Amino acid sequence: SRCPTDFTHVEGNFLFITIKTTEKFHRLRIELIASTWMSEALLLKGRNDRPLVKVAVLSDAVDKSVNNLTGGRMVKSRCPSSHNQTDFCCKQAAEFDLYYGEPQASKWYCHFDDDNYVNIYQLLKELERHDASMPLYLGKSSRGMVKLKDVISGNEKGRVTFQFGTGGAGFCLTRVAMQRIMPTVSCLTGGSGLESVCRKLPGLADDVGVGYVTGYYNITITEVPTMHSHLEKLQILSQNDIKNAISLSYTRYKHFENTVQLSSFHNITPSDPTKFRSLHAFLRPKECSRTITDK
Ligand code: UDP
Ligand code: MN
Repeated sequence: SRCPTDFTHVEGNFLFITIKTTEKFHRLRIELIASTWMSEALLLKGRNDRPLVKVAVLSDAVDKSVNNLTGGRMVKSRCPSSHNQTDFCCKQAAEFDLYYGEPQASKWYCHFDDDNYVNIYQLLKELERHDASMPLYLGKSSRGMVKLKDVISGNEKGRVTFQFGTGGAGFCLTRVAMQRIMPTVSCLTGGSGLESVCRKLPGLADDVGVGYVTGYYNITITEVPTMHSHLEKLQILSQNDIKNAISLSYTRYKHFENTVQLSSFHNITPSDPTKFRSLHAFLRPKECSRTITDK
């Protein structure tokens, strides 16, 4: 069987990931992902030994020690750090700009939250299955269709009908899709920007806003069932579901806990309330561990 770390047939700079975070989560959440899936993603090499995956972490502040853990990949946004929906749209637009501002933008862009565990091998395998020359939007899609008035074209009677990818499960776009939506989502292009779309539609969350804009440009979401947010009951995922998952998550507050349940055999890492450390040990393929730990 082919080692899942073997992506040497894939051209370098295949995927660009942005992660949204905020100052109060640097220690708790960024440390955790920097020491698990993020560093593994950054070590992956494609054709000609070129890095496959780039990562940028967008926050409202940059602190030196956490930034070091990410290899200097933290970026400070100009967005307000409050937790309201228009500010979240500003942050998402800033994430898009980070990707789009790259001199050689990769074929794929994905967004994740800082409470996502990303199985980078499963993610790359999924992306490889799709035609990146098409305008594609992949994610864990919302159940029903959303229908909202058109605030982009100026047509008073216009409606935009769409499904959106739940932000907390992560979502991905091809560069071709991004080229189409960029005039409307970017903070930089001088277009109205995602932030102003969200302002014109009060209550519109950032992930709904992304679905709205892609829907406006006739890019429909491709459902990826193996992307998971903590809106799902994560305890019901089987060991196989966990293995096949592209993204996982957690929530913990007071006595409420929503985390994946690993079999007692794999649930071995002590003091691991989010289960991410055990998960990382569980998913790391043994026969390939050399390629992961070697620089
Ligand atoms: N977040 C943010 N600013 C805030 C609060 C949260 O950028 O003021 C980010 C956070 O780092 C995470 C995402 O927004 O990536 C979702 O936050 P959280 O998981 O706390 O809330 P949820 O919406 O998932 O319940
Ligand atoms: Mn969350």
